[in-house]
This record gives sequence, structure tokens and C-alpha cells, in this order.
Amino acid sequence: MPIRQDDNRPSRRFGLINLVLIGFGVLLLFSNFLPNPANQVPRVPYSLFIDEVNGDNVRRAYITSDQIRYELKEAPAEGSPTVLATTPIFDMELPQRLEQHGVEFAAAPPQKPNIFTTILSWVVPPLIFILVLQFFARRSGMGGAQGALSFTKSKAKVYVPDEESRVTFADVAGVDEAKAELTEIVDFLKKPERYAAIGARIPKGVLLVGPPGTGKTLLSKAVAGEAGVPFFIISGSEFVELFVGAGAARVRDLFEEAKKKAPCIIFIDELDAIGKSRGGSMGIVGGNDEREQTLNQLLTEMDGFSGKDKPVIVLAATNQPETLDAALLRPGRFDRQVLVDRPDLSGRRTILEIYAKKVKLAEGVDLDRIAQATAGFAGADLANLVNEAALLAARVNRTAVEQGDLNEAIERVVAGLEKKSRVLQADEKKVVAYHEVGHAIVGHLMPGGSKVAKISIVPRGMSALGYTLQLPTEERFLNSKEDLEGQIATLLGGRSAEEVVFGAVTTGAANDLQRATDIAEQMVGTYGMSETLGPLAYDKQGGSRFLGGPSNPRRVVSDATAQAIDREVRGLVDRAHDRALAILHHNRDLLERISQEILAKEVIEGDELKGLLAESVLPAEAQLVA
Ligand code: ADP
Ligand code: MG
Ligand code: ZN
Repeated sequence: MPIRQDDNRPSRRFGLINLVLIGFGVLLLFSNFLPNPANQVPRVPYSLFIDEVNGDNVRRAYITSDQIRYELKEAPAEGSPTVLATTPIFDMELPQRLEQHGVEFAAAPPQKPNIFTTILSWVVPPLIFILVLQFFARRSGMGGAQGALSFTKSKAKVYVPDEESRVTFADVAGVDEAKAELTEIVDFLKKPERYAAIGARIPKGVLLVGPPGTGKTLLSKAVAGEAGVPFFIISGSEFVELFVGAGAARVRDLFEEAKKKAPCIIFIDELDAIGKSRGGSMGIVGGNDEREQTLNQLLTEMDGFSGKDKPVIVLAATNQPETLDAALLRPGRFDRQVLVDRPDLSGRRTILEIYAKKVKLAEGVDLDRIAQATAGFAGADLANLVNEAALLAARVNRTAVEQGDLNEAIERVVAGLEKKSRVLQADEKKVVAYHEVGHAIVGHLMPGGSKVAKISIVPRGMSALGYTLQLPTEERFLNSKEDLEGQIATLLGGRSAEEVVFGAVTTGAANDLQRATDIAEQMVGTYGMSETLGPLAYDKQGGSRFLGGPSNPRRVVSDATAQAIDREVRGLVDRAHDRALAILHHNRDLLERISQEILAKEVIEGDELKGLLAESVLPAEAQLVA
């Protein structure tokens, strides 16, 4: 892929000149301290010198700050030297004493420093410092010959799509919703005038959210490829590096470059490296100033440019959207979020086709079977899978990839992924299927303004193994007590299904229980929905709600009230649990049927799901009394 470095950097020769200069300077500096053998005279103790003076045996003395050199009238012994030196000590009476004994004496003139050495001693240390910086910058950099002072330059690589290696939407598969959203972005970039003419504001930031390897980077390259505009690519972690303040400077530099090349795209990979919530670090003293500065600079830059007919669109990718700072997600910044998720069965099939075209495939290879066996694989895993199979085939000197190679490759890739716990075993998959169908059936029968739209057992996101999607059928701002009780029952539907079918529970329901308990607590503590406790707000509102910290500490209540609250919350959850169990026992056959269906298909949605769920019946004992 044609990823090019911007090459307006100072050449490597600068470094060489530096080196010569510094070597020279160091030599000069040290030459001052080297002993000069020409001036060597025997050194004697100070007391001896004083004795000689008192004995009127000194003819003359020459006093400098670090030595006194003196000449004797006559040598103490035959042939011994008459010129001697001693180290001066602080002695105010020395001049007087010398005068009394008729010694001719002189002091050295104040030393005139050599201008050349002075300049060098000012210039050399900074040069050494810069050299050290340069060394680090080069080591952490891209290996290029970056100049000494360019470490604040953005390290963005410009990706210029050329004809044959251009990435287009055709190279990305299995993420159709994301593609549809990004097609619009391409349109903005191609015909900005059309949007400007009508007064529409072109989105500045689009955030691609999804697990690793699902094609976020690939998608953004495809956007650049489709729109035919320059594409700056930089990773969030490259902003935050060694030098404090460099991150912010790099952001500034990057946007400056981009504005010159507009219309263009800036792609910031791993946005979470700089965009972590600032509130999160409040507890820790100081937080991470460098990252915060970089983030602030990014926000400023995104607010700063308008570029009506020369748009700069910032794409960013993250797999931890929940850690991002709320300020990043505000309108005018990354106000659009595009989910790039792991592909479902048909998506995997299409991705496999793309990569199968790049290798020689034997006749009769069944890609459908491979797609079925690879639930939970991301696009990158599938690409890897095909490559592994080709390697296996090549190793045994086959000329084409066969089904067996692909099967073996699956096992290899799975082994790698299992360590990251992203692939479900067959029995786990079964539990997840019943669990999700449990949510769906209970959710369908409970009141409230939403309907079950989709059940999936493709592992999604970071923690969910499967999911049941409920979409609101009408916009609601108020929830009745019955709605909330229904929500709790729905949340417990998953775990209840596990109990009904397997008679055992797994850890898969932790998040459901958390949310169910939260709702029950709010019903009692915040909404005053408990009959025994009355319409009192036992939870305190406020606190740091905007920063998303844990809210609602309890008001000061008596022990008895606290116990009553706990009992009441427990009662709500227990009743909802019983209700869910009753519903699932009553619809046991349907639960079985839908679960088998979903185990075969992985996803059920739309009319099919509607038809199946319409068969469910609400038993009398699970009725909510309004
Ligand atoms: P991410 O940025 O989401 O972590 P990448 O875009 O870097 O993932 O994906 C890595 C590689 O995996 C891509 O270069 C591509 O070869 C392959 N890949 C991932 N997702 C897809 C997809 N949906 N369609 C085709 N290829 C994909
Ligand atoms: Mg990536
Ligand atoms: Zn669940």
C-alpha cells in the first residue's frame, strides 16, 4: 500500500556536522583541566613557605588564585630547586608579612576568559542536549531521518490512493450498515458545494466503534479511496509520547497540513489513547496532563475549522467508546458514531469470498461451511484464516487450497482466539441461544413501548456473547411502574431461561442482574414507587452526574428504613424473576423452537421473529396488575 512519509525533513548530514562540532567543543573544554607539564614546579606545604618568608629567604612571590609560586634566595640544599609552589590558604596577613620581609611580590592579573571557549561552553551543552533528544526522537520515530527540532511535527502518514492499490468499499464486506453511513461521507467530500448551497452543516467527525480487526482502518481507507482525496493516518498513541507538550503541537501541525490539502480526511486510529475521559482521572492526583492537553488541542482544532467547500473530515476509530471523554462526542465533534461489528453468517461468507479470490481454491470448496464454523470471527481473523490455509497447502506442495486446509486453519485460528475468549464452544453457544430467546419471549409479553427487533448469538462488542435488541415503538419520556417491572422481568428472562432449560445458571447473566437491580433500586429510592415506603426519595440526586461517576448516595436513613429499602428492592426483583420463570415454563415449546432456529442461523429478525414471538402466550400468574 502506498503509504508515504512526508519528506520535507532536514537531511542526515545535519547530524554529522553536529557530531564534529560537539567533539571539537568537548576537546576544548577538557583541555582546560588537563595538567600542563611545562609549568610543573615542586609543591611544598604552605607552612614551609611561611617559614622561608620569616627566615628572609624568599626573593619574590607570584600569587594567583590557585597557587603561590616563589623563588628562594638560596637553595636549602646543594642542587635542590629554588623555585617552589604552594597552595594558597585564606591569609589576610600575607601581603603585610611579605612586605615586612622585603619580598618582591605580584598577583596575577584577573584571568581574561578566552572568548572562543566561552562561546563554546554556551553552545556545546545545548547541542549535546539536542543530540540526545534527536536520538530518542529517532528511536521512537518511524526510523526516518527526522531533524533535531522536528519532534513536534505530526507524524501523520499521507496515504495517497493510486489506481491499482486503492481500497474501495468493494474490499470491505459484512459491515453493510457502516458502509451505508460512510457512503454519505464520501458524498460530502465529493460534492461539498451541494451541501453548502442548501446550508447543511457537513459533519466534522465520524467515530468508528467496534472490536479489533473488524475493518475500521480498512473502512476509512475505503472512504478516502472512494472520494479520491488525501488521507492522513495517525495513531492516537503517536500523539502522546515522550515529550510534554509535543502531543498538542503535533495536533496543531497535523490540522495545518490537512487544511492545506483540503478536501481531505484525517484518520485518528485508537482515539482512546488521547480521548480518555478526563473525569476518570479526577480521583488520581494530577491525572495525565499531557494527554489532556492533547485532547484539548484536538477539541479546539475541531471547533476551529469550518471549511464549507473545502471540508476536512476527521474519522477516528476506537474499541473502547465507553472510555471516551464526553466532550469528544458533542455535536460539532464526533457527533456521528458508526458501529463496525463482527460480521454475521452472510457477512462472513462475503468476506471469505473476497479473500478466497486472492488464493487458488480447489474445485468444490464449500465456503458456506467455513462461514458457519467461524461465528465470532472478525474480518481480520477471516483474512488470516484463508492465508493460514494457503500456507498449509503450500507446505505440502499442493497447488490449490482444499476444504481440509481451511478446516485445519480454522482450528489454528480458533486456538489463538480462544485465548482471547472470543469463540464460543458448542455447549456455550447453546446456553447463549436459550438465554437470548428467554429475554426475547419475556420482553415480547411485557408492557412498555418497545418491541423485540432482533436476536443474535454472534459475539458482539467486548463482553456480550449474544444480544436481544429491543427497539422503542414510540418515543417515551415517562415510564409507569408496570413498564419498569416489565423491564426487570425482561432482564431476568435470560437467566430464567437457563434455569428452565438447564436447571443451572452461568456467569453470563451478570450484566443483566446489575441492570435489573439498578432499576429496582431506582424504583424504590428515586421514583417513590414502593407502597410500604411511600413517595420519598431515599436516594440523593446530584453529585458528579455529568462526569458519570457513581451517583445517588443514599440519604441518611434509620437502620429500619435501610432494611425496608433492601427488602423492597429484593421483593421487586424476586417477583420479576417469578414472572419470567412462569412465562418461560408456559412457553417452553416455543423457547425450544426459536432456540433451535437461532442456533442454525445465528440471527433472527424482522417478520420471521415477529411471527415466532406472536405465538407466545402470557399466563395468568405472570400478569402485571395495573
Ligand atoms: P481494525 O482497524 O478494525 O482493527 P483493520 O481495518 O485494521 O481492523 O483490519 C485488519 C485487516 O483485516 C484488514 O486489512 C483486512 O485485510 C481485514 N478485514 C477486517 N475487516 C474486514 C472486512 N469487514 N472486510 C474485509 N476485510 C476485512
Ligand atoms: Mg485498526
Ligand atoms: Zn442476558
